[in-house]
Amino acid sequence: LSGRFNEIFQQLRRRGKLSEADVDAVLREVRLALLEADVHYSVVKSFVTRVRERAVGHEVSKALNPAQQVIKIVHEELINTLGEPDRLNLSGPKPRVVMMVGLQGAGKTTATAKLAKILRSQGERVLLVAADPYRPAAVKQLQTLGQQIGVDVYTREGVKPPDLAAQAFDMAQKSGVSAMVIDTAGRSQLDDALMQELQAIARRVPVNETLLTVDSMIGQEALHIAEGFRDSVKLTGLVLTKMDGDSRGGAAISIRSVTGVPIKYLGTGEGLDALESFDPRRLASRILGMGDMIGLIERAEAAFDQQATQDQAQRMLAGQFTLEDFAQQLKQVKKMGPLSQILDMMPGGMGQAARNIDPADAEKQLKRTEAIINSMTVAERKNPDLLNASRRRRIASGSGTDVQDVNRLIKQFRETQRLFKHIKKTGGRGLPRLFG
Ligand code: GDP
Ligand code: MG
Repeated sequence: LSGRFNEIFQQLRRRGKLSEADVDAVLREVRLALLEADVHYSVVKSFVTRVRERAVGHEVSKALNPAQQVIKIVHEELINTLGEPDRLNLSGPKPRVVMMVGLQGAGKTTATAKLAKILRSQGERVLLVAADPYRPAAVKQLQTLGQQIGVDVYTREGVKPPDLAAQAFDMAQKSGVSAMVIDTAGRSQLDDALMQELQAIARRVPVNETLLTVDSMIGQEALHIAEGFRDSVKLTGLVLTKMDGDSRGGAAISIRSVTGVPIKYLGTGEGLDALESFDPRRLASRILGMGDMIGLIERAEAAFDQQATQDQAQRMLAGQFTLEDFAQQLKQVKKMGPLSQILDMMPGGMGQAARNIDPADAEKQLKRTEAIINSMTVAERKNPDLLNASRRRRIASGSGTDVQDVNRLIKQFRETQRLFKHIKKTGGRGLPRLFG
């Protein structure tokens, strides 16, 4: 509990604007987190600069400490950078055409089938086009997937991809297909022949969407690949695959911020249902890798009744802090959720102190303290001087605790009260020593 007061005290002391030192301390960690998430270093650099400009001098919300405030700004800026979720553009005359592009192994064919499944569930009549004539196995793979989801696959042996796409389009038009997804060939690296082929397809059929599929596991290289495709074909969206692996998905920020291509889907598994619409908030939290620190910050803010806290702070400094206020504090902590969950949400460095706390113990103590205060009369809460031995015994038995527990709480309370009196006298100077 004294930790909780410590925190409040810090808020009192640190209210105001974020200093350069506040911001830089957090940004050092953020920089590392982004690099670890495989965000390209040039993108990290410009991102950090942007956040720094925004954060220094920013008002610290009363519910947060400065570090939390900086993280909140980082998270918001990350969401801005990732951009709003962008729906698939399926407007215009039918059939609407989606062309899937990307390097070999990126997950293109799998994503093609997953997308077809989604489109079909939305009521579209879908046709898949196997435009990878160089590898018979690739055509077979799409046919098998098509069978699994019950969608027709257009293939013609020995026909070049642009002609194949044009033939498929004709057939689709005649047979009332509303959406056609073309699975194009990939290469193990960027090359001109591949790009020319994609351009040729785009000349033969009216393409609504050109989706670049990128493996999220390839790291910093992702940016280079995206730039290569962007320079040759007009990309309209990004599908980031294999997000079920270790990758934190930093490629998404690199690609989005450098190319401006919106992220549309995330592949999250080998199964054909594992394609998720992109959610910038969730991806931002994952890229930052801060456990659910972000969730914690949001909950702290929500739970914090700013006015009540201000009043309380005033009373504290006037030396009028009562056990009633103490009980209020407990309620606020409880509003944030179970302690064990709150402790779990703290990431490595920041949760160091928290890690030494046994959440079950802390929870028990919190409950005990609350029970003790609840067993006091209003008069006793306002004036603990009334608490003689017999009253303490009554409170202990009423709250199912020991007299020792009651004594300890009162002692803690007295210390806190003394502390606030001291703050008032000295204006806060020389205090950090008291907290050791
Ligand atoms: P393509 O060469 O770009 O067409 O890639 P494929 O669609 O053939 O996928 C290559 C491999 O990656 C296959 O083994 C897929 O099952 C696998 N794969 C594709 N997407 C995902 C994904 O989101 N998660 C996982 N775990 N595996 C994926
Ligand atoms: Mg393929």
